[in-house]
Amino acid sequence: MLDFDTIAAISTPMGEGAIAIVRLSGEEAITIADRIFKSVSNKRLTDVASHTIHYGHIVDPKTEQVVEEVMLSIMKGPKTFTREDIIEINCHGGIVSVNRVLQLVIANGARLAEPGEFTKRAFLNGRVDLSQAEAVMDLIRAKTDKAMNMAIGQMEGRLSKLVRHLRQEILETLAHVEVNIDYPEYDDVEEMTHQVLIEKASNVRQEIDKLLQTSHQGKILREGLATVIIGRPNVGKSSLLNSLVQDAKAIVTDIPGTTRDVIEEYVNVRGVPLRLVDTAGIRETEDIVERIGVERSRQYLKEADLILLVLNFNEELTDEDKKLFEAVKGMDVIVIVNKTDLEQKINLEEVQQFAGDHPVVTTSLLQEQGIDQLEEAIAALFFGGTIESQDLTYLSNTRHIALLTQARGAIDEAITGIESGVPIDIVQIDLTRTWELLGEIIGDAVHESLIDQLFSQFCLGK
Ligand code: GDP
Ligand code: ZN
Repeated sequence: MLDFDTIAAISTPMGEGAIAIVRLSGEEAITIADRIFKSVSNKRLTDVASHTIHYGHIVDPKTEQVVEEVMLSIMKGPKTFTREDIIEINCHGGIVSVNRVLQLVIANGARLAEPGEFTKRAFLNGRVDLSQAEAVMDLIRAKTDKAMNMAIGQMEGRLSKLVRHLRQEILETLAHVEVNIDYPEYDDVEEMTHQVLIEKASNVRQEIDKLLQTSHQGKILREGLATVIIGRPNVGKSSLLNSLVQDAKAIVTDIPGTTRDVIEEYVNVRGVPLRLVDTAGIRETEDIVERIGVERSRQYLKEADLILLVLNFNEELTDEDKKLFEAVKGMDVIVIVNKTDLEQKINLEEVQQFAGDHPVVTTSLLQEQGIDQLEEAIAALFFGGTIESQDLTYLSNTRHIALLTQARGAIDEAITGIESGVPIDIVQIDLTRTWELLGEIIGDAVHESLIDQLFSQFCLGK
């Protein structure tokens, strides 16, 4: 285990919450806590067993003043999250008293932890690998239950396991290359090697592809689906927004203390987190086509993952509506024909023609009709049911996606090389590169500055 100083932080979200926890980790954690903790049973923390909880008071050793009534957990390394000694002080009071406890801990020898430093230690002490550590961060920011499951899956090492397996395959392939280099005079060795090489490398490529294919869904689960509602004035855009928000099981705003300052609105539609883009600006999109022209509005809309195009059941399809269809060509669109409680003036066959393959849903937002079908359409469009299978590994982290894409390129070059008969040591270079790129996902051979940068994105106290 590596040698570190003792760090401390408040490891529960700031603000509300009945209990706040001050956490310490490091060699001095127990002695520091012992200086400020008076157990009701009069035991010293240096004498008690590991993984036990103690009731008592935090007392300022200078003034002998009682600061807070607490439950204190003691966990000696290495069976802890950081593999170091950990003390957790459960405070019952509000934010003021928890801050006083933290100040005392620091006055008595601990250092205030940097964001993500607890997890960083867990990584540096070999407790978790890098992809698991990143999953902790995702967990903190998980927007829906499914995103949560995905993060947990990754934390449990699902992605790591897959990546390790791939690296092993590549190592075996490299071994074959070695045979070839060491015994070039044996023709049949070369023959065999050639075939085995292609087979193994293609296998690796296939598995990388499979993983990469999940990245779209994974990213959506993690970051939410950028959703824009468009339509002419008065068709019901605001009503749609309201009904989605009302019906949603959870509206999650970012936890304070994370790097994002902007408060975003998320609604959870059957496990699909919709990120309502520019919610405040929705009124402005009403005449977006007219205002900025079809070309530019297309550019604007391109950043959306999902377009909800609203039409009026009570009016004929207008040129403006048709322009909107034009503007969202090639994107994921759900067409909503609203106000079915009023007299039908729209030609639904014509709508379907314009919609092409995109689903068309009819609603009366006023009478709360058709919202179920709309939610179904949203879920079907993005997950086609497959999202339910818990054992799929979803690739969601941008860094992982970038590395896997690079690894895909490297293994591709290796395969092309083998097929076109380039010198085997060139193939070896490409294979090694693939192996290294995959290694970066789980944190083997990653640069120290990268590690610092990654962990600084965490919440304080995690
Ligand atoms: P926006 O301008 O597109 O945002 O449309 P709004 O959501 O503000 O709605 C415009 C008007 O249509 C409001 O008076 C709504 O109450 C009404 N409205 C919305 N949905 C329905 C519906 O399904 N049926 C009827 N009859 N009126 C609706
Ligand atoms: Zn509106």
